[in-house]
Formats: sequence, structure tokens, C-alpha cells
Amino acid sequence: MTIRLLDPATIGQIAAGEVIERPMSVVKELVENALDAGARRVAVRVAGGGLTEIDVADDGGGIAPDEVATAVLRHATSKLAGADALQSIRTLGFRGEGLASVVAVARTTIASRTPEHEIATAVDAFGEEIGAPYPVAGPPGTRVVVRDLFANVPARRAFLRTPGAEFARIAQWLATMALAYPEIGFTLDHDGRRIFAFPADGDPQPRLRHVFGTGAGAMLAVRGAGDGVAVAGWIAPPGDDRPDRRAQVLFVNGRLLRSTALSGAWSGAYRTFAMSGRHPYGVLFVDIAPDAVDPNVHPTKSDVRLRFGERVNAIVRGAMGDALRAAASERLGRSISFAPPAEVPAAATGSGEVASIGWNDRFAVVDDVALPGLRVLAQVDRTYLLATDGEAIVLIDQHAAHERVVYEELIANAGAAAAPAQPLLVPIAFEVRPDQARALEASREALVESGLAIEPFGEHAYRITAMPAHTTHAGKTRAFDIAAFLDGLDDEHRPQDERHNVWASLACHSVARAGDTLALAEMSHLLERLQRCANPMHCPHGRPTIVRLEPEAIARLFKR
Ligand code: ADP
Ligand code: MG
Repeated sequence: MTIRLLDPATIGQIAAGEVIERPMSVVKELVENALDAGARRVAVRVAGGGLTEIDVADDGGGIAPDEVATAVLRHATSKLAGADALQSIRTLGFRGEGLASVVAVARTTIASRTPEHEIATAVDAFGEEIGAPYPVAGPPGTRVVVRDLFANVPARRAFLRTPGAEFARIAQWLATMALAYPEIGFTLDHDGRRIFAFPADGDPQPRLRHVFGTGAGAMLAVRGAGDGVAVAGWIAPPGDDRPDRRAQVLFVNGRLLRSTALSGAWSGAYRTFAMSGRHPYGVLFVDIAPDAVDPNVHPTKSDVRLRFGERVNAIVRGAMGDALRAAASERLGRSISFAPPAEVPAAATGSGEVASIGWNDRFAVVDDVALPGLRVLAQVDRTYLLATDGEAIVLIDQHAAHERVVYEELIANAGAAAAPAQPLLVPIAFEVRPDQARALEASREALVESGLAIEPFGEHAYRITAMPAHTTHAGKTRAFDIAAFLDGLDDEHRPQDERHNVWASLACHSVARAGDTLALAEMSHLLERLQRCANPMHCPHGRPTIVRLEPEAIARLFKR
């Protein structure tokens, strides 16, 4: 398509605004143009934080000789046929303002050559002045050199940070952008020094490492699709998180967004994996039909409007959840697959007849052969299970683990025609404050779904006549802490979904606590149930259930 001036009607529909705020904005406009031109290699050279010079060269399709001077005009673009095309934009640029905005604030030279021409054509432009085109030597592709940024707008210069800080923004933006284009090579130099060179080999690792640091090697691959939405990406493993959301990178149709549109998907997916108040990190690439995304809502196009936002959210959240669950079971698998079965001690192997001791006799007694690798050695401080797989020392938080087990069993059975319920020999009657009554009423449905039978019992009082089977043993619920349960219904750290919150609270307050003595058989049974969980590594509040002390760490303790 040739470069043409947009008609006034189309111009009127374009979200206009300040495009060039700082050196990084120049790099953004030029690199986006290179990507739109189909470049396989983009070389960015910066001097003095971008204030002295910015030089972006690409090997893309180039500009025809007679169009180079037109390209720098405002509203001159080859990417938008007319107002209708605004409904389905497939390029990063479309407003024809990038080059014009750069030329308005800096001495600019653009040199370009298409594959059909032997020689490149250059134009110098600055402010209102656009020079006559002249021939120069150069490879096919386009090179734009921008000097003395904001020389004519001192007020803008005053807003800038130090050259070092401005350059840091450029480097951060370019490396992040490169994540979405692994097949395209990017190099960045500053004051003659090579900052990075990402080869055009499709390998995301060097880019991930650059953007997310050394933890990148452990990031989990995300992949999912449905309903016209495709999502891919890399996300942090549970437990490796950041204090804010800044490292949650989002691309929609190749466009890097500042959008928080999908932050709900992050918190939803990591609901029970990350500690509250901490944020996982990673990069998501979401691809949607162009007509379901409107990039024409923000001057720098750093935000978009998503049609069907909820649907997109659900698919992204689901894909992240799948990746997290797969990783969790793999990690647990490692825990239980190493020690040879022969080493399981007699006490734990059992003959089918193991004494069940202690108040917490709701653990059924099972044959521990089901735990071939990870074996429980002892209870520590009446809080942790000490176990080993013959390789690492493994500690399990008895409360967190039990909570996770019951929580998942509740979820699995909820909504079933009849969730397994255990009538209580002695119903639990209790009084409530008005706010607790409200919380209870609001939770009623979720409680019934779980198998808990509750009914009003006089004024300001209720009684529970049956408990979910998973939380009881032989009709007894000695551990159920009704007061804490009621408070838990209002817990701010609760999982977001209301029903899950009710079940998490139910699980939390009906299981073994720290300080409870557990018999070996009970501990083994707990581990066995934990092993069947979809997400065994974390309790419903996101705290870890299992920690491992690896042999290397033990060796370090002994200074070996
Ligand atoms: P937009 O990207 O919105 O079209 P720009 O002002 O950034 O507007 O660019 C104007 C036009 O110049 C583009 O539409 C494109 O045709 C051409 N152009 C700019 N940069 C390049 C480049 N690196 N390679 C090829 N063509 C380019
Ligand atoms: Mg552009």
C-alpha cells in the first residue's frame, strides 16, 4: 500500500495526543515501524540516553523513493485505508503520526531502500522543514537517525531524568518488546557499548533472562485457546513473586500494553499459589480477532479496549491455572518418586493394622505402601511432618497440608447431587452476632453444597446437624472451631470466589492445627491424600505446604 494522507473524517476518529514524551517514545515509534515493515533484524543505537542521538536501522520492506518525504507528514500512513479499517487494525501503527511527531521535536534523517532499488533515498527534516530527497548508499531497509531531541522544546527537556535513567527506560522497553518477537533479532548499543544482542533464532530464554532475571529458567510455559482467543506466555513458578504488579507484562496482538485489564486473571490463577500481597510475574501473549480489540483509545496506544473482556480473562486465567497445576504435581512427583520402596520403615509400611491415636482420629488408617517414596519419619514440634524421599529432607506443615486436602475434597464433592454429609451425634449449637448472621446467610448455599446442614435455632442462634464427610470422623467434629470459621468468612485474605472462600474457611477450621499430636499413620494418610491434590504445594491461602532441604543445601550446612 502507498503512503497517503488520511482524510479529515478518519483523522477526526483518531485518538490524538502527545506521542513523544521522552527518548523512549522515539525508540518505540521507530521500532514499531520497523516491525510493521516486516523487519527480521532491528538495530538500535543510542547516545547520551537518547538525547544526543537515536539511530534505528531495520531490514524491512523499505519506502519507495517518491514516498520518503511524504512519510514524515502528519497523518501520512500506508497502514490505514480509511475509517472502516479502524475496526480491524493488524499493524502497530495506523495514525501516521509517529514520524511526524519525531520530526517535530528533533533533527531527523530518514533513509530507506526497497528491495527493487539499487540505492536508498534520504530526507532530512526538522520542525516544519522537510528537505528535498537525495540518494545515499545503504542496504535494503530503513534507517532513521534522530539528533538533539527536544532542542526546540526546552520545557520538555526539563522534564527528563538523567541520560542514564532515560536510557534505562529504553533498554527496559526494547527488551520487553523483544519478548513478543522471538524470531526477530534485536541489538541495543549505548554510547558505543553493546547492551544486548538477541539473536533471531526464536529462543525466548535470553530475552526472558534479561527481563525477569536469573529466575527466568524456572518460568512455566503457558498455552491455551478457546472462543477465538489464544494465549501463550511464560509465568513465574509459585513462590517466586514480586511486591508489585510491574513485572506482569501483557501483549495483545503483539502490542505491549500498560493495561491492567488482565490483572484479575493473574490473581485468579495464582489464587492459592501466591502469598497475599505478593504478585507473580511473567509475560502473556494474547491473540484475539482484530475486530475484538480497539487500540484506538489511547494516544500512545499503551491501552486497548477489549470486547468480551470477561471471556478473555477466563481463558487466560484457565491457561495459567493449568500451567501452575501441572508444575505443582510435577514438583510433588519429584518428592515422592526417589526413595526405593524397600526402605519404607516397618512402622509406616504397616500390615494393614496401624494404631490410630490421638484426638485427631478422623484420619482413616491406611496401608502406607501407597507412599512408596516420601516417608514420614516423625512429627516435629507438633506442627510439622518430617519426611524424606531418601534424597532431600522434606518438611510438611500439618495444618496447611490438611487444609489443602480437605479444601480440594470439598470442591470435588460440592454440587454433587448429595455431597457426602455426616450427621452429627451431637449437633453444634452456637449464637451469632448480627454481622456473623449475615455472613452465614450469604454463605448458606455454599455450605449446603459442601454437605453442611445448618438451621436457625432460636433467636440469634444456629445449629449444625451434619458436617461435610471429609471434615468428620465417626460423627465427631471435635476440631471444628465455629467462632474462627465465622470470622474466616470475612477474611480479607480469602480466595476471591465466594464459594471457595466458604470452603477454605471450612477446611481451615475443621482440620489438624499446629500443636496437635498426630500418629504416624495419620501423618502418612495425610501425605497420601495430599499427593492426590491438584495443587498440593500450597494451602488455600497460598502458604506453602511442603518445603524441601536439598542434599546440596545440607552439604553446605556441613561445609562439605
Ligand atoms: P504509521 O506507522 O502510523 O503509519 P508513521 O509516521 O510512523 O505512521 O510512518 C508513516 C509511514 O511511513 C508508514 O505508514 C510506513 O509506510 C512508512 N514507514 C515508516 N517507517 C518505516 C520503516 N521503518 N520501514 C518501512 N516503512 C516505514
Ligand atoms: Mg508508526
